[in-house]
Amino acid sequence: RSHAEKFEFQAEVSRLMDIIINSLYSNRDIFLRELISNASDALDKIRFLSLTDKAVLGEGDDAKLEIKIKLDKDKKILTIRDRGIGMTKEDLIKNLGTIAKSGTAAFLDKMQTSGDLNLIGQFGVGFYSVYLVADYVEVISKHSDDKQYIWESKADGAFAVTEDTENEPLGRGTEVRIHFKDEASEYLEEDKLKELVKKYSQFINFPIYLWASKEVDVEVADEEVEEVSDEEGTEGKTGEESSDEEETESKRKTETIKETNWSWELLNDVKAVWLRSPKDVTDEEYAKFYHSLSKDLSENKPLAWSHFSAEGDVEFKAVLFIPPSAPHDFYENYHTSKATLKLYVRRVFISEEFNKLLPKYLSFLKGIVDSDTLPLNVSREMLQQHSSLQTIKKKLVRKALDLIRRLAEEDPEDSSDENTPNEENADDKNEKKGKYAKFWNDFGKAIKLGIVEDATNRARLAKLLRFQSSKSGDKLSSLDQYISRMKPDQKDIYYITGQNREQLENSPFLEKLKKKGYEVIYFTDPVDEYVTQYLTEYEDKKFLNISKEGLKIGSKEEKQKWKEIKESFKDLTNWWKDVLTSEKVEKVKVSNRLAGTPGVVVTSKYGWSANMERIMQAQTL
Ligand code: ADP
Ligand code: MG
Repeated sequence: RSHAEKFEFQAEVSRLMDIIINSLYSNRDIFLRELISNASDALDKIRFLSLTDKAVLGEGDDAKLEIKIKLDKDKKILTIRDRGIGMTKEDLIKNLGTIAKSGTAAFLDKMQTSGDLNLIGQFGVGFYSVYLVADYVEVISKHSDDKQYIWESKADGAFAVTEDTENEPLGRGTEVRIHFKDEASEYLEEDKLKELVKKYSQFINFPIYLWASKEVDVEVADEEVEEVSDEEGTEGKTGEESSDEEETESKRKTETIKETNWSWELLNDVKAVWLRSPKDVTDEEYAKFYHSLSKDLSENKPLAWSHFSAEGDVEFKAVLFIPPSAPHDFYENYHTSKATLKLYVRRVFISEEFNKLLPKYLSFLKGIVDSDTLPLNVSREMLQQHSSLQTIKKKLVRKALDLIRRLAEEDPEDSSDENTPNEENADDKNEKKGKYAKFWNDFGKAIKLGIVEDATNRARLAKLLRFQSSKSGDKLSSLDQYISRMKPDQKDIYYITGQNREQLENSPFLEKLKKKGYEVIYFTDPVDEYVTQYLTEYEDKKFLNISKEGLKIGSKEEKQKWKEIKESFKDLTNWWKDVLTSEKVEKVKVSNRLAGTPGVVVTSKYGWSANMERIMQAQTL
């Protein structure tokens, strides 16, 4: 359009679009899902506003919260129309021209090297996936605060925005017009579009219609056929019909002719999954629902889920999913990570950013919560303060920990290791790994952070802990397993912290304990140092760091004997301490923890372990 105002895309967007256009990525189908998801988001926004101001919905067709898809086969154009909130001119420039999200460059690098666009939706740039199939796109939008505008771009580094004086007024909402590339002709089939919506957008909570044709058989009385065929050049007349001269003689007979009917065909089932009874929802449906929630475009199934309703003072229904793997930036951005549960109040979507629904360490969970108890017609801010949220959170945490515990019990870490005679490749082995092993690999750190952060559920979380020890071999062990292997006279749980297993195995601190047959836990993750500061007991047994002062092993007689030995060496130890001075050591003692090594430096009971000193110096956490 010649009178349009021209803009350049932000550099990152340009780069992203280049990647998309030149991508050999085979799953181009995702574009439809992304555009429908944007339409649905826009509808959610207007519905939310209407809670406090009914008038924003307007009347008649405007008030219908729906998505309509129409195909023009001849012109090779697909339009996706929503009656959502719409965009002002400024919105169009900002939302479809820039990326606000931090870490964009890293994301782009990753996408470029891996060629995998599955993360595009999660990263908040899903709109641009339309250029997988289009060479030209128009976005016509009307927001109540502004006039109607057209945004357009041929993905050539620039876009243009024009006040719309040529199209019909939209009333409210957005219409995306996709001008397909020649290579994208597969999307010019209604059946293909139907299949895609059914496959990827089944759980959108607004009706999705397709302007669809249907061949229908119309019964026509022969009389009429005759009449029609009498009039020359009228539609509906075919050679066959008029040649049936014999039949037209009998006036009673009818004839069937084909006719094409056009209508808006509803493509999705809008009954929300969480409102259905769990026994009526198939695993396949849960998996699809998970994908629609998570914006994960890969086909990886969630590891586990829990679908339940809570009754009592606070009523709500919820579905929680454990994702197949940790989000790409989960630990890097742990402290700023956003919760990922969608909150609904009485079927109305409220927000995705309710940090109060789950503690940080569980923010890897995906899911939805729909509450009948929370008030509908208040602002998000007021809702954040609502006292019921605390109760909901408490119950969600319980359910989530239950779900994880069940996973550990039903599909533990080593379920397959025993009977894999030929481990041909690592991938294969990973496939056969129990689900809890996968869970632990990706989310174990989150559970550990939970032990540090959540005093109320510390014992429950400790049950989920997995580690290697001096008796675990290559497998992972739980604290319950450790306890079951404890020696009859053993009161405490022994552990040691360090950089890796090899280092710990050769530690002189281990000598005596090993010799006596005690099991020692190896904590090798930097976060373990924090865990052991908070997790001081499990099932009435104390945790003892064997590299710290105060380790007592042996019987009463041995202890008595020990006391005597200590006394007899007093002169030596006192002399030694003077030599080293009090700046270097606190005490010098005769030790009974060694078997072969002549001496060790031990950390005082409340001091930092040597490993912690190392971590603090390296600032690895
Ligand atoms: P995301 O949806 O994750 O924010 P997208 O790239 O899909 O990222 O969309 C970018 C932004 O463009 C959206 O956040 C929204 O503000 C705006 N947008 C896109 N499509 C629509 C639409 N149909 N109606 C209103 N706003 C839209
Ligand atoms: Mg989007």
